[in-house]
Amino acid sequence: MHFHGTEVRQRALTLLRGGTKNADVARKLNVPLGTISYWKHVDRAKRGECPGRPDPKCPRCDGRELNARAYAHLLGLYLGDGHISHYSAHRTPNLMIALDDAWPGVQGEAETSMRRVFPDNATCRVRRKGCHNIKVYSLHLTCLFPQHGPGKKHERHIALEAWQQKIVDAHPWEFIRGLIQSDGCRITNWTTRLVGGERKRYEYPRYFFTNKSDDIRKLCGDALTRVGVEWTTTARGTDPYNISVARKASVALMDLHVGPKH
Ligand SMILES: [Zn+2]
Repeated sequence: MHFHGTEVRQRALTLLRGGTKNADVARKLNVPLGTISYWKHVDRAKRGECPGRPDPKCPRCDGRELNARAYAHLLGLYLGDGHISHYSAHRTPNLMIALDDAWPGVQGEAETSMRRVFPDNATCRVRRKGCHNIKVYSLHLTCLFPQHGPGKKHERHIALEAWQQKIVDAHPWEFIRGLIQSDGCRITNWTTRLVGGERKRYEYPRYFFTNKSDDIRKLCGDALTRVGVEWTTTARGTDPYNISVARKASVALMDLHVGPKH
């Protein structure tokens, strides 16, 4: 990730305060538009120019209401493919979910859930090669995603806290949807068979969830069991790797509540 020095940031703020449009500043200084928007937001907030956007409250620290449905979805996305940046004195930490440009609908859903979970925080999209990073900036990310820690998710133990489990139990499909959208897929295998002398094509749709973390696959499997979806674990080499949903009735349930990526 690029780090933009304070000098560039100062030049950007000077231009923005002078009324130059965000997109023009981004182009001129070769800084992503999302970064410019964020700098402007922070600058205006510091100068008290963001009415209705006071210091954002946190559901865990201040007891602000949390949209549980959107949270279950965002938690699934986060566990599948999300990342929280390291905390430092100079930057507000961000939660970033990288989503493929092949699925603009999924990107839109992710952004909507992010806004619902963090209604008072700055969100943005940053374009990368073949994907967009959907981001939200907050000082309270680890309150909402206590699974954050050093190293990769599959190299450490991942368990939900009791309050998170309660939300997942109340909105299991939203959670599954987030997991599949970030780290899963729906594919169609097909074959032909001779029936009464006529060659017929048969399709076998199935869903996969692919994640290296045994703990995260278990969370996915538990949620699937809860909603009555039958699943199996398949391996890559000798390591369990995929969760597979292949039975007709279970695939039909998944189609109803999750569906192909879009
Ligand atoms: Zn907090």
